[in-house]
Amino acid sequence: MSFENTDVFVVGGGPAGLVAAIAARRQGARVTLADGARPPIDKACGEGLMPQGVRALARLGIELPSADSHPIQGVEFFTRDRSAGAKFSQGFGLGVRRTKLHNFLLKAASIWGVRLLWNSPVSALDASSAFVGDKRLRFDYLIGADGGSSTVSSAMGFKAARLQDKRFGFRRHFAAAPWSDCVQVYWAPGFQVYVTPVGDGQVGVAVISRNSKLRVAPAVSYFPNLARRLRAAEPTSAERGSASVSRRLPRVTRGNVALVGDASGSLDAITGDGLSLAFEQAEALGDALRDGDLSIYEAAHRRIRRVPSLMSSALLAMDRYPLLNSLVMRGLAAKPTIFSQLLNFHTTSELPVQRLA
Ligand SMILES: Cc1cc2nc3c(=O)[nH]c(=O)nc-3n(C[C@H](O)[C@H](O)[C@H](O)COP(=O)(O)OP(=O)(O)OC[C@H]3O[C@@H](n4cnc5c(N)ncnc54)[C@H](O)[C@@H]3O)c2cc1C
Repeated sequence: MSFENTDVFVVGGGPAGLVAAIAARRQGARVTLADGARPPIDKACGEGLMPQGVRALARLGIELPSADSHPIQGVEFFTRDRSAGAKFSQGFGLGVRRTKLHNFLLKAASIWGVRLLWNSPVSALDASSAFVGDKRLRFDYLIGADGGSSTVSSAMGFKAARLQDKRFGFRRHFAAAPWSDCVQVYWAPGFQVYVTPVGDGQVGVAVISRNSKLRVAPAVSYFPNLARRLRAAEPTSAERGSASVSRRLPRVTRGNVALVGDASGSLDAITGDGLSLAFEQAEALGDALRDGDLSIYEAAHRRIRRVPSLMSSALLAMDRYPLLNSLVMRGLAAKPTIFSQLLNFHTTSELPVQRLA
């Protein structure tokens, strides 16, 4: 049997794993990443990257090319009879197809000198080695970036996550020039439809609900204006679905092992925070590896999740309680500054400076 050595071994080459690998390489570590799938890896996703995620990538020297993405300037909410919206106060978000994001991040990781092993499921893990294909790999640090059903988490004895909520999402793309520079969220009783501009001639449409059978077309038909816009638009992808899960782990580090991205817990897709959380966590993990102290990452992980978790709970309450939804929409429509302050809080963690009354 042959052995190989690396300083940091990343299991999972989705967005979290690739950016964590880059963050570790930037600290000078030798990094090997293995993923069981072949690139580019696609996934059901609303594909909106919030400004805090764009900023985290920029701090790591990663800038998505404008040809592969579409700028997002804010968020708009619609019900059948009301609308409200706000622009980001600092920076911009990006709409980006998952396949393009994956291609770009894997190229960046490769330029940084990360050793990338695709089609390479990882098995037989312990605290210092793992099997990748027929080779045994030894490492100093292990990073579990292997998504919501993390093998690293279960094999390395992490306490199980507490499942807080579970919904279902489906997404499809359409050939249509984006009609807004914002992510649009259409609220219906029991579900939301998201429209994200992902290119000059393409929008992504995602539906999220508690009904695992609710697909994009019937959800869109609930909103006549949206249905009219999409009626003539050719679908450019097959429909793809995934669970949208809110789960929290008691700890995300254990000895020389750290979890990042969805492997370290997740929030409902309602806030569009998953990728941003992963990138901010990856950055913090790089800093902790530099200092050889994963407790720094444990504390940073809690801090990074705090505001998105709060926003997610608030928006899920709007999903559950129609009366609350109607009151909030009425308030946001009547006082746009409230929406701006909440969006600013969400994307910068700065508390509103004015009283909300
Ligand atoms: C419907 C829906 C809409 C969403 N919309 C948004 C949005 O608009 N904006 C946003 O920011 N987030 C959104 N999210 C969340 C976002 O998709 C996730 O947070 C993000 O994909 C997490 O990335 P990750 O790298 O942690 O995990 P993943 O993308 O799941 O990657 C994990 C990787 O690990 C690999 N792997 C697993 N097990 C092994 C193994 N044993 N060995 C080797 N490799 C392994 C897999 O092949 C995979 O490539 C949405 C989620 C859903 C469900």
